Amino acid sequence: MDQTPAAQHTAQWLAAFSEALDAGDAAAAAALFADDSYWRDLLGFTWNLVTLEGPAAIADMLSAQLAHVLPCRFAVEGEPVVEDGIVIAWFSFETRAARGTGILRLRDGQCWTLLTSMFELIGHEEKTGPRRILGTVHKARKDRITWTEERQKERAELGYATQPYCVIIGGGQAGIALGARLRKLGVSAVIVEKNARPGDSWRNRYKSLCLHDPVWYDHMPYLPFPEDWPVFTPKDKMGDWLEAYASIMELNYWGSTECRSAAFDPETGTWTVRVCREGQDHVLRPRALVFATGAYGFARMIDFPGAGTFRGEMFHTSEYLSGDAYRGKRCAVIGSGSSAHDICVDLWESGAEVTMIQRAPSIVVKSDSLMEYGFAALYSEQAMARGITTDRADLLFASVPFRLIPAFQRPIYEAIAAADADFYNSLSAAGFLWDFGTDGSGLLTKALRTASGYYIDVGASDLIASGAIKVASGAGIDHIDAGGLTLEDGRRVAADVIVQATGYGSMDEMVAHLISPETAKRIGPFWGYGSGDPGDPGPWEGELRNMWKPTAQEALWFHGGNLALSRFHSQHVALQIKARMEGLDVNVFAAS
Ligand SMILES: Cc1cc2nc3c(=O)[nH]c(=O)nc-3n(C[C@H](O)[C@H](O)[C@H](O)COP(=O)(O)OP(=O)(O)OC[C@H]3O[C@@H](n4cnc5c(N)ncnc54)[C@H](O)[C@@H]3O)c2cc1C
Repeated sequence: MDQTPAAQHTAQWLAAFSEALDAGDAAAAAALFADDSYWRDLLGFTWNLVTLEGPAAIADMLSAQLAHVLPCRFAVEGEPVVEDGIVIAWFSFETRAARGTGILRLRDGQCWTLLTSMFELIGHEEKTGPRRILGTVHKARKDRITWTEERQKERAELGYATQPYCVIIGGGQAGIALGARLRKLGVSAVIVEKNARPGDSWRNRYKSLCLHDPVWYDHMPYLPFPEDWPVFTPKDKMGDWLEAYASIMELNYWGSTECRSAAFDPETGTWTVRVCREGQDHVLRPRALVFATGAYGFARMIDFPGAGTFRGEMFHTSEYLSGDAYRGKRCAVIGSGSSAHDICVDLWESGAEVTMIQRAPSIVVKSDSLMEYGFAALYSEQAMARGITTDRADLLFASVPFRLIPAFQRPIYEAIAAADADFYNSLSAAGFLWDFGTDGSGLLTKALRTASGYYIDVGASDLIASGAIKVASGAGIDHIDAGGLTLEDGRRVAADVIVQATGYGSMDEMVAHLISPETAKRIGPFWGYGSGDPGDPGPWEGELRNMWKPTAQEALWFHGGNLALSRFHSQHVALQIKARMEGLDVNVFAAS
């Protein structure tokens, strides 16, 4: 069959690339990239999560890594497509240690963007499909050990008679997803979680909470939600799913177990992790440690001047469960992110008189519009019908380098602004401050930059527009007194109840608390990619800081994010840990 021009260009480029790599010629390989090109590598070449910008950076990386990585077996997968003159092609590749998937975007015969992502270690593949285990011994034997007995033995011994290779602190969705990945790779792991049961981190939140992202985006690894699962999962249903998932995946999940401290001994390469399990102090000694403690470790309560004089009730959103007790009360909710909006609605539904205190603009997008303009291309029934499975969607999403995400996102928000002009006018008329971020690139980039400051509208905005929820916007809080609060411009809001929807501390506070302030300082901040936006200062990193990749502290990883990012990157964290457990040549490239 004749090749299409797109297939020809792809085959030619990949052959030239492969030839240059075979010859160990970094300069020749880099010359195949455009001046404004990007290569995002997720472990395959760098054992790191790195985006290289331009041929010089690409040549530097290849010079450092080629001899270790020995890439080979590049093969185009499927038929390349052409979008706006750009050829998009999928390919597979191998290295000395691993197999990977690549996505290539060619512009005028040169590479514009390249993604290379490792998915399995050669010789250490997951026992899936044809490799699956038998699960029994088809032979009569008197010393038969059943699956239940084996699990009971493992549960009794792991962490006591034997040490897990890895300890994961935090058993929310991130810790659970990573636990499942490690289990499939044969890495023994214990998840320590201070809540009693898997899923409690969702159950403990306010009663009206539903996931704001749609089901296609939220699957856990290996075990997708059933076909009839609702588009938006209620929080307790999510909690139950996580609990069932942890059981089905045979995770060693220690509920009611709080990690109290962790210290690394570089001599022995071992962590000393002190935990309190159901009231008993206990020490674990793993080789690898992962923080999956969430962005929601420490509630950030702001000590506003005069707060101590307030005669009503004041608390953080993390303590809010329901508005039942606040019928007829005047409630001021400080903040205008997702939790602030949801809690305003919950209070209004409970018959409270609600005022949102908004200092700066938030990004607000109607849920329906986000589904249509944002999610539909990759995560929807339509995408599934076009063959875009969750795995393919994750890789396609990852194939856009951070530098280009705003340009990919802006048209979405221009379309939303046009389609929902009346909605935004009504918000403005009510005094609510909204924007699409400093560069108009919307919610996704804001989430990647600061993980805060946005709301997917699931009902609050209509109440704001109609005045049912009042808004006092455009000024910070000057002080609180016995009967309410006063804004910096002198406006006064009388209140019986003040809810601080002021966010949560970052993981570095957790590191300082559990390991040491020095270690936290050495590792540096988390999240954000150095965009220069408020809340995400430079320098430019091009990848999320310290997430899912080697850090300044040996044998320590940080894992988290929303369900989608946790699903995708849990594979990368697990592969890094497995590779070290197996003693592979893990030559980490650190971009300068
Ligand atoms: C209104 C709202 C809507 C949202 N909608 C979505 C959505 O649609 N999709 C989505 O993906 N996300 C959504 N989120 C965000 C969601 O909360 C996070 O994605 C999720 O909680 C992150 O999971 P995690 O496992 O990283 O952290 P967490 O769920 O916070 O889990 C961390 C766990 O670590 C435990 N822990 C902390 N310290 C210790 C310690 N020292 N010892 C033992 N255990 C410890 C905690 O108890 C906790 O259970 C929403 C959030 C809000 C507020």
